[in-house]
Amino acid sequence: VLFCLWAVSAEAEYLKYKDPKQPMSTRIKDLMKRMTLEEKIGQMSQIERRFASPDVMNQYFIGSLLSVPGDTPGLNATAEDWVNMVNEIQKGALSTRLGIPMIYGIDAIHGHNDVYNATIFPHNIGLGVTRDPDLVKRIGAATAFEVRATGIPYAFAPCIAVCRDPRWGRCYESYSEDIKIVRTMTEIIPGLQGDVPANSSKGVPFVGGKSKVAACAKHYVADGGTERGIDENNTVINRTSLYSIHMPAYYDSIIKGVSTVMISYSSLNGQKMHTNRDLVTHFLKDKLKFRGFIISDSEGLDRITSPPDANYTYSVQAGILAGIDMVMIPNNYTEFIGNLTLLVKDNIIPMSRIDDAVERILRVKFILNLFEDPLADLSLVNKLGSQEHRELAREAVRKSLVLLKNGKITSQPLLPLPKKAPKILVAGTHADNLGYQCGGWTNQWQGVSGNNFIVGTTILSAIKKTVDPSTQVVYRQNPDANFVKSNKFDYAIVVVGEVPYAEMFGDSSNLTIPEPGPSTINNVCGAVKCVVVVISSRPVVLEPYVDKIDALVAAWLRGTEGQGVADVLFGDYDFTGKLARTWFKSVDQLPMNVGDPHYNPLFPFGFGLTTQPLKMN
Ligand code: BGC
Repeated sequence: VLFCLWAVSAEAEYLKYKDPKQPMSTRIKDLMKRMTLEEKIGQMSQIERRFASPDVMNQYFIGSLLSVPGDTPGLNATAEDWVNMVNEIQKGALSTRLGIPMIYGIDAIHGHNDVYNATIFPHNIGLGVTRDPDLVKRIGAATAFEVRATGIPYAFAPCIAVCRDPRWGRCYESYSEDIKIVRTMTEIIPGLQGDVPANSSKGVPFVGGKSKVAACAKHYVADGGTERGIDENNTVINRTSLYSIHMPAYYDSIIKGVSTVMISYSSLNGQKMHTNRDLVTHFLKDKLKFRGFIISDSEGLDRITSPPDANYTYSVQAGILAGIDMVMIPNNYTEFIGNLTLLVKDNIIPMSRIDDAVERILRVKFILNLFEDPLADLSLVNKLGSQEHRELAREAVRKSLVLLKNGKITSQPLLPLPKKAPKILVAGTHADNLGYQCGGWTNQWQGVSGNNFIVGTTILSAIKKTVDPSTQVVYRQNPDANFVKSNKFDYAIVVVGEVPYAEMFGDSSNLTIPEPGPSTINNVCGAVKCVVVVISSRPVVLEPYVDKIDALVAAWLRGTEGQGVADVLFGDYDFTGKLARTWFKSVDQLPMNVGDPHYNPLFPFGFGLTTQPLKMN
């Protein structure tokens, strides 16, 4: 009998870390006690989906995976396809000796933007204009639902950069040049993760259930302050400005329970942020008591040296010693694992540093309930692109438009437009292009052009739905002046702007609207009353056109719900947006932010008209 009892208990050995009744800290401690160095380093590794398979997960104990835009189960894969893909990889992680679940992350930065049929919200630059934290919180919640619908529990969002120079190709990922606005917009974090319970300790991450995701405040720190707005460049800044402009949104994110923080590629006063032990370990972890994990940017360690990988061993050492816990590798995982293992064995990186990293990663996994519930299910699939979420995106579109001009001095305001008119012209490359209206980070990293692979409403189709059935809508991408003159249009809506881009591919020193945008404005606005709607990821050069234009609307990057534009142009709702950036006159003025001496913009920070006539008292 004794032998039998012994055999049974040996078979079903009690594993404290698997017991949900144990406190989380006990479970983490118990699990870490059982882990080998190899297993710990595996936890610290995040690799790209295309380099992963259940076997790789199992062999290297890989702790995390990511999808990069375009690297999906297919450009029009369904939510079910995603869930199946994530689960298949998870099974590889679960089949390891200790069965530690992996955490899958994705760039859901304006909705679940890599996934077909998802609701795409305006990019952050448009959301800043709304100055509406409650709206942004609801967007966070909707995004979390959609991300979870595809089986993913982790979003690399929000970007809380304070973009100080619109020449930066990532300016549209920033809510504002003004830290006060960026701070209020961190409400997206409780939207994504849930509200931190009143009794929780400061700095401890929080994720409130299966319809929420772990969030990521990025890119730490001062990514929006690089010289000349060059991506990944150096930010030269004194302490006071660093702590008053770029840092405060991180305090807020940590208080709101953010689960992870991503390090910036950029340097701070000449030092790569990926090596900045003072700001990563001493400030974030020690001073602010952040208990989530710090993740590197993709190949962030490789880019510590110039050229990248000039001395990878040094880079791994500097990055891990700075306090980075999880490394977005994303493909040369054998080199990362090999180097880190040797650095630990040679006592260059102390075991305590590895344990700190692993403890933090496991904490987020426990908080996400991945140990009890590692496999995604299909319960939320109908949330992806739901009508409810699309209505929310439409509301955000309405609230993020800024009316910059309405009527010339000698004429009546043009907006709101009459729905009933014999014949109207819709012109411009951006009127009927979902890819353009969504911008970068939509389906592909650099965004797409056209209406394939995105489900939504273009501005043209929204106009057609909104006008009276008797109104004839004529659409031309780039009509010549004679065509416009000979056609007797009551008015024209011209939709032009930038073409999508991401990261350094968007760095620009001229900030002009590309052709044929300017010709379209010139051809149409010279001949008929026109409203110009600018689809852009930042303020662009407009001064040469403003006098020709009757009404001017800054629409930023809309996302899928173009109907919100028509709602406001035709007066079902009024304009409420106010600029959250300074609209410069010419690029020679840059950088120029509100509060600067010699502030002389085309439209100042905070500017935005309504269609109601000014009341004179
Ligand atoms: C970007 C990050 C992003 C990561 C993963 C990097 O190039 O800087 O913002 O989260 O890629 O796609």
